[in-house]
Amino acid sequence: MSANKIIVAIDGFSSCGKSTLAKQLAARIGYNYIDSGAMYRAITLYFLRNGVNYNNHDEVVAALADIHLTFVFNEHAKSSDIHLNDEDVSLPIRDMLVAEKVSPVAAVKEVRKFAVAQQQKLGRKKGIVMDGRDIGSVVFPDAELKIFMVADPAVRVMRRFKEMYATNPHITIDEVRHNLELRDYIDSTREESPLRQAADAILLDNSSMSREEQLDKVIGWVKERSMVSA
Ligand code: C5P
Repeated sequence: MSANKIIVAIDGFSSCGKSTLAKQLAARIGYNYIDSGAMYRAITLYFLRNGVNYNNHDEVVAALADIHLTFVFNEHAKSSDIHLNDEDVSLPIRDMLVAEKVSPVAAVKEVRKFAVAQQQKLGRKKGIVMDGRDIGSVVFPDAELKIFMVADPAVRVMRRFKEMYATNPHITIDEVRHNLELRDYIDSTREESPLRQAADAILLDNSSMSREEQLDKVIGWVKERSMVSA
């Protein structure tokens, strides 16, 4: 069977398990995994550290000119760490402070143009799994496989709470729920590339699916589209 490399675009609301699926899928089929949300988080971290007002066009443009983002493969974690101007910021971008500001920052037109151009460059050679909010609709409208993930809100809150509690035992379920609801709202109502299911995306509700079940399902879809024996 010939192995045509394809682009897999995975979109959906926060904490639907997109990155877990994308990471496992990429490892299984030998593709690169790119977490586009990490790029918006790293930009937000830079803005917070440098007091950049995201409502001020000139400040945003000047700041973006100083931001250099790279993904560096971490052999131990078997996934890529994001570097902001050569500093590994994989951990600080997961802070609640960043989570609180990332959606308004990601709604800024210049920020999106900056991130989308880099994402498109990363996908030029295909063989990539990218997750985010606008990957199938804007970044790679011609992606061979588009998946739109949804999950029960209560399931999403508990998943994100467990993830955050591991590094911040002071976090509460209410804080996590509030942050997810707010990000869902901003992400789906913003003017620039709002979160939408692309017309040709497959809906995947994983509320009551195990990780293995969803991975098997998606590998089947990849095979159909690329004729790769995964
Ligand atoms: O995926 P994650 O939850 O880490 O993304 C953080 C935030 O970055 C999202 O809430 C959203 O505001 C923004 N984002 C986006 N477009 C993407 C990926 C993430 O606007 N492609």
